[in-house]
Amino acid sequence: MLRYGIPEFRLPNELIDDVVGKIKLLGGKFVENFVVGKTATLQDLRDAGFWRIFVGTGAGLPRFMNVPGEHLLNVMSANEFLTRVNLMQGLRPDYETPLPEIAGKDVIVIGGGNTAMDAARTARRLGGNVTIVYRRTQSEMPARVEELHHALEEGIALQVLRAPSEFLGDAQTNFVTAATLDVMELGEPDESGRRRPVVTGQQETIHADLVIMALGNASNPIIKDSEPRLQTSKWGTINLDRRALRRRRWPASTPAGTQPVAARRPSTRPATARRRPARSSGRSTWSRVRSGPWSPARGSTPTSARPPRPSSPSPS
Ligand SMILES: Cc1cc2nc3c(=O)[nH]c(=O)nc-3n(C[C@H](O)[C@H](O)[C@H](O)COP(=O)(O)OP(=O)(O)OC[C@H]3O[C@@H](n4cnc5c(N)ncnc54)[C@H](O)[C@@H]3O)c2cc1C
Repeated sequence: MLRYGIPEFRLPNELIDDVVGKIKLLGGKFVENFVVGKTATLQDLRDAGFWRIFVGTGAGLPRFMNVPGEHLLNVMSANEFLTRVNLMQGLRPDYETPLPEIAGKDVIVIGGGNTAMDAARTARRLGGNVTIVYRRTQSEMPARVEELHHALEEGIALQVLRAPSEFLGDAQTNFVTAATLDVMELGEPDESGRRRPVVTGQQETIHADLVIMALGNASNPIIKDSEPRLQTSKWGTINLDRRALRRRRWPASTPAGTQPVAARRPSTRPATARRRPARSSGRSTWSRVRSGPWSPARGSTPTSARPPRPSSPSPS
C-alpha cells in the first residue's frame, strides 16, 4: 500500500526501499509473490513450523457505491488508478500499462479522505481538470487539513454537499461522459458523530471523462475465506479472542495486524498498534521447521537463544 497507494511526491520509494533494506539487515526475510490463503493456507504455514502468525494484510478491497453506470469504462477505484500510475508506471511511454487519457480531461474524484486527495493530486499532475465531489461539507472531510489545502492550492476544485446518484455513458463506446449528482444538506448526526448528509431532491449533472471512486477500503477476504476457523466481523476484520490469545490456541496464534482488526488506523500509528501482537508471539522456535519456500529466516535467531520446542503449544 505504501508503494502503490501513496504517490511518490508524498512518500518517495527510496524511503520505503531504505526501511525494507534495514529490516533485511536485521535478519527479516521477505517472501515475494506469495498469497497466504492461495499459495499456502495458514494451516500450511503452521505445519511448516510457524506457530505464531501475525496477519497484517491491510484493507485493500475498494468500496463502490452500487449506483447505475458505475460499470462504465473510465470509472475506477482510486486503488486501481494509483496502482496503474505508481506501481505499474502507466504514465511512462516505455511501459504498456493502459492509463486513461487525462491531460486536459475532466476528472472527478468521489470521496473526501486522504486517498481522494492523493488520487486528485496525481490526476492533476497528469494534466487533468480535477474536481473532488464530497457529500458533506469541507469541515467534515476526513482528509488531513494540509492535504486538502495542498489540493486546493494546486488548482483542484471542490464540490461539497454533492453525491453521485448515477453515471452516464456513451451508448456506442461505453465510456463515462457525465455524473448526475444529488444535492445534499446536513441532517442529524450519525453514529460517527458527524451530521448525516440527506438528499434535497435537487440534482445536477457534470461532465466527466474519468471518475475515480475513493470511498474507502474493506478487508481483503482471501485469508478469511481460506480459514473458516477465523472469526471475523461484518467488515471482514478479525475478532480477537483475548482469552485464547493467553492460552495460545488457534486462532490465538494468529494475532491480527492493524487493518484487519480495525481498518482506520493511519500508517503513522501502526508502530504502537502492532506492539502487542508482536509481543504475544513470545517464545518461538525455529528448530523443526522444514526447509521450503516459506521457511523462516535461518540465522535470524541465534541457536543459543532458541528455546526447546514443546510437543504441543502449552498454555501460559
Ligand atoms: C492512497 C492512500 C494514501 C494514504 N495516505 C496515508 C498517509 O498519508 N498517512 C498515513 O498514515 N496513512 C495513509 N494511508 C493509509 C496507510 O497506507 C495504511 O494505513 C497502511 O498502509 C496500513 O498498513 P498495513 O500494514 O496494516 O496494511 P497495508 O499497507 O495494506 O499492507 C498489507 C500488505 O499485505 C499484503 N497482503 C494482503 N493480503 C495478503 C495475502 N493474503 N497474502 C499475502 N500478502 C497479503 C498486501 O499486498 C499489502 O502489501 C493511505 C492509504 C492510501 C490507500
